[in-house]
Amino acid sequence: MVVELISVGTEILLGNIVNTNTQYLAEKCALLGLSMYHQVTVGDNRERLFAVLETALNRSDVVILTGGLGPTEDDLTKEVCAEVMGFDLVEDEHTRERISKYFKNNIYKEIPDNNWKQAMIPQGATVLDNNNGTAPGLIMEKDGKTAILLPGPPNELKPLFTEQVFPYLQSRQPEVIRSQMVKICGYGESQVEDKLIDLINTQTNPTIATYAKTAEVHLRVTAKAANEDEAKTLLKPVVKEIKSRFDNAVYTTKEEETLEMAVVRLLKKHELTVTTAESCTGGLIAGRLVNVPGASEVFREGFITYSNKAKRKYLDVSKGTLKKYGAVSEQTAKEMATGGVFASDADACIAVTGIAGPDADGEKPVGLVYIACYMKDKVKVEEYHFKGNREKIREQSVVKALDFLRR
Ligand code: ATP
Ligand code: MG
Repeated sequence: MVVELISVGTEILLGNIVNTNTQYLAEKCALLGLSMYHQVTVGDNRERLFAVLETALNRSDVVILTGGLGPTEDDLTKEVCAEVMGFDLVEDEHTRERISKYFKNNIYKEIPDNNWKQAMIPQGATVLDNNNGTAPGLIMEKDGKTAILLPGPPNELKPLFTEQVFPYLQSRQPEVIRSQMVKICGYGESQVEDKLIDLINTQTNPTIATYAKTAEVHLRVTAKAANEDEAKTLLKPVVKEIKSRFDNAVYTTKEEETLEMAVVRLLKKHELTVTTAESCTGGLIAGRLVNVPGASEVFREGFITYSNKAKRKYLDVSKGTLKKYGAVSEQTAKEMATGGVFASDADACIAVTGIAGPDADGEKPVGLVYIACYMKDKVKVEEYHFKGNREKIREQSVVKALDFLRR
């Protein structure tokens, strides 16, 4: 089944808003395994919308239109769609009632006249109730072609799509497409490919796709099958094989789980609390941990010690160490991690000190970063040589630090 997207709105053409609806819908359609060859944006103009829609209905099975369902004169999507597909507009009692209710529940005293335009529905179309606005979504089917109309505001479009359109499209797909993520930290993209090259080259169902992220590689394993159970059966051995090749470097197989979520999950499991002692990352690690709802169970405080003075004051890094080895050194990183644990009541501490650039520090090059982890009365340290600009070096340091904590 081929699906095409049409975004309606002059504000998109002018660059006044970013077309996030297309990105959202494209991703969801890919998850459903639908083919998509065209995405079109057109302004609020009757003739051009007419032409674009005719073309789309000729070359695609399903056309999803977003925007232009509002009550005003420039909102034309429904009217043009009805005309192109040959539907009459009739008043829908159910939608009229829903609009009245919507206004009663809101602060508006009177219902503007032009809102009743939204209760006019192409005869025979399926009405999708919109709980966050007045414009209903619509599904129109004729001669083997389908148009799906959704309101432009993302807070209205997204629930309509996930709750009503997604299941509808899924029911029209003869096969199910299921995928599973395998998220890896500690290997570069080419290393990952090397280790999996035989699988990547020979696997046709499921297929394996790699995505490089900052200091991480994500693999999407995708299977096509007649039903849910068959898809699971196809995915399971391949995911298992991948995991066995990367061992502990796989931090999750859940699509929605981020690295910091995996760290918090593991800390909770082992009933450990953690603190952070950050120099060049300036609080970014703490920020990532606090991204996770419920992080307070494992993270209570962190230290940002950018200067030598602060490292001494808060983490008790010795003057001698700083003088002899410098702030960016294995020794300082270790003392920061140990100091963090003693200065807080946490069980563990992750410490980072490095040179994010753009200028080197004497002999020490940009990108040199030491990450130390104090855990169970032991302190371990790792040395990294990151490439890239200041931002990239700091980002990579954060990911490696979180991963160190996880391991
Ligand atoms: P309304 O009833 O609000 O007029 P509508 O269905 O007519 O809704 P538009 O008028 O086209 O939709 O757009 C309304 C608002 O929705 C835009 O101002 C913008 O904030 C958002 N919007 C529209 N299209 C998109 C899009 N493709 N991506 C992201 N946001 C969008
Ligand atoms: Mg509008």
